[in-house]
Amino acid sequence: MVIGAGIVGACSAAYLQRDAREVLLIDHGEPGMGASFGNGGIFSASSIVPVAMPGTLAKVPRWLLDPEGPLAIRWSYLPRLVPWLLRFAAASAPARVEAQARALRALLKDSAAHYAPLLRDAGAEALVRKQGMLYLYASEAAWRGDARAMDLRRRNGILIEDLERRTLAEREPDLGAAVTHARFIPDNGFTTNPLRLVQSLAQQLAARGARIAQERVLGFESNGQRITAVRTDRGRHPASAVVLAAGAWSKPLAAQLGDRVPLDTERGYHVIVKAPEKTLRAPAIFVDASFGITPMETGLRLAGTVELGGLEAPANWARTDAMLNHGRRILPGLLARHDESRLSRWLGFRPSLPDSLPVIGPSSRYRNAYYAFGHGHMGMCGAPLTGKLISELIAGKNPSIDISPFSARRF
Ligand SMILES: Cc1cc2nc3c(=O)[nH]c(=O)nc-3n(C[C@H](O)[C@H](O)[C@H](O)COP(=O)(O)OP(=O)(O)OC[C@H]3O[C@@H](n4cnc5c(N)ncnc54)[C@H](O)[C@@H]3O)c2cc1C
Repeated sequence: MVIGAGIVGACSAAYLQRDAREVLLIDHGEPGMGASFGNGGIFSASSIVPVAMPGTLAKVPRWLLDPEGPLAIRWSYLPRLVPWLLRFAAASAPARVEAQARALRALLKDSAAHYAPLLRDAGAEALVRKQGMLYLYASEAAWRGDARAMDLRRRNGILIEDLERRTLAEREPDLGAAVTHARFIPDNGFTTNPLRLVQSLAQQLAARGARIAQERVLGFESNGQRITAVRTDRGRHPASAVVLAAGAWSKPLAAQLGDRVPLDTERGYHVIVKAPEKTLRAPAIFVDASFGITPMETGLRLAGTVELGGLEAPANWARTDAMLNHGRRILPGLLARHDESRLSRWLGFRPSLPDSLPVIGPSSRYRNAYYAFGHGHMGMCGAPLTGKLISELIAGKNPSIDISPFSARRF
């Protein structure tokens, strides 16, 4: 039984099915409608830099003062966030950052290879492109300020090319003069439609006999050592093994399975410009404002930034206006005149642990319960190996990589 039909649950279910397991994939909504719906779609094997870096906290006041900056906080949520923020601060210590980056590198490095069999089975190869990815900067200061993160990437074996302005203009002719510096990561890729990617995996699962149920999981039944059934708003399902992949909503269910994890959410937004006048050929991260720009089937998607405010607060669509304003600076003429009918806006919930690492592995209390959540900013890239690891654990095999950094007990 896999709880949660986002990209992580779908990949876990797909690897379990490839391992000849009978799978029930259960989600209270349609597959792919959580965080996996609206992300930037970038398979960023270079996303190994934890959010909490040495110096990150010092930048927070400046970010918060800038209404178009990369970070916002809902102040009413702050008291609930304090324990998470304290762990976040501790995770930014240099030695911990090195260890977290190494663990992320192992999870993300061969993402394309781990996706390959799933995409082939699902006939979804056309949804994935391997054109590399740009980091864009609007000043020399921003470019220099990113040197530490780039050094961490290089030391972990990631190829990075510094691009001359002229080369950048040849590659991306629509970029404006506001972009002064760029770096290129040749090994990254992207999907042109994250929702369709999850849907394709789900359709393939169903075609091969998996059941997909639209129910909300409420709790578990056990014999003290093993989970015997899952309780939902519509009944109960006997289960021989349970995988919790409910993204940002996993915390209360993990507590029922014996682990208190400091999972919270980094809310993020997207705005899609349909049929944009200007576009990019490859996806890019605009580092100054911390969002991605991805050419997708549905239009040019600007997706990212972080808002700390929990799962309940309503959306603040001004965050999407800010991305749009930046987008217009980077791609002058992006939207010739403001026409709301050509825009579509979305708020999503990244499942985020304070050390930027997911939780992957067995529950502390039940022998047949496993975790696969907390992929923060890199779930699209980290999902396939997570799924493979889950299928290996359930089969009693040695996992392909060291999963100790991802243990639920690390907190
Ligand atoms: C703005 C933004 C941009 C991003 N850009 C990128 C990017 O470019 N590249 C990248 O790799 N990552 C990116 N991410 C992160 C990525 O989207 C997430 O890490 C990933 O989608 C998490 O997948 P998931 O399957 O764990 O969670 P989700 O997709 O949220 O799926 C969890 C599912 O669990 C279900 N669920 C929850 N509770 C229950 C319950 N009790 N019972 C039944 N079902 C339940 C939900 O309905 C949901 O469908 C971005 C995120 C955001 C917000």
